[in-house]
Amino acid sequence: MIHPLAALIRFHEMQTEASVKPEAPPQQEALRLQQAMSPTLQQHYLKLFARYGSTAVLPLRRGTCTGCHMRHPAGAGKLAEGVSQCQNCHRLVYDADEAFELCVG
Ligand SMILES: [Zn+2]
Repeated sequence: MIHPLAALIRFHEMQTEASVKPEAPPQQEALRLQQAMSPTLQQHYLKLFARYGSTAVLPLRRGTCTGCHMRHPAGAGKLAEGVSQCQNCHRLVYDADEAFELCVG
C-alpha cells in the first residue's frame, strides 16, 4: 500500500510533468496512485491543481506554508495521513521531513 502523502507527491509530479510534455502520463501508475489517495483528497487536489498548477502541493517550511507564507498550525485538520490544507490559501501542504522519510524508507 502506498502512503497517501507519497502518492499525492508522486501524482502531483506526474501532473506537472504532463503539462510540459505532450505525451500522456503512464496511466497504470496514475491509477495506482489514485487508489492510494482518498476520494476527498483527490477532489481537493484536482480543484487546487486547476487553480494553482505546479504550486498546488507544497512542503511546509518551519511551520509556514511555502505558498502564501502564512503560519500553519501544527494541529490543523488533516485530509490524509501527513497531508493538511493551508487555512489561508487552501493549498495542500505537508511536512517535508515526513515526506523525505517516506521517499527514503
Ligand atoms: Zn498557504
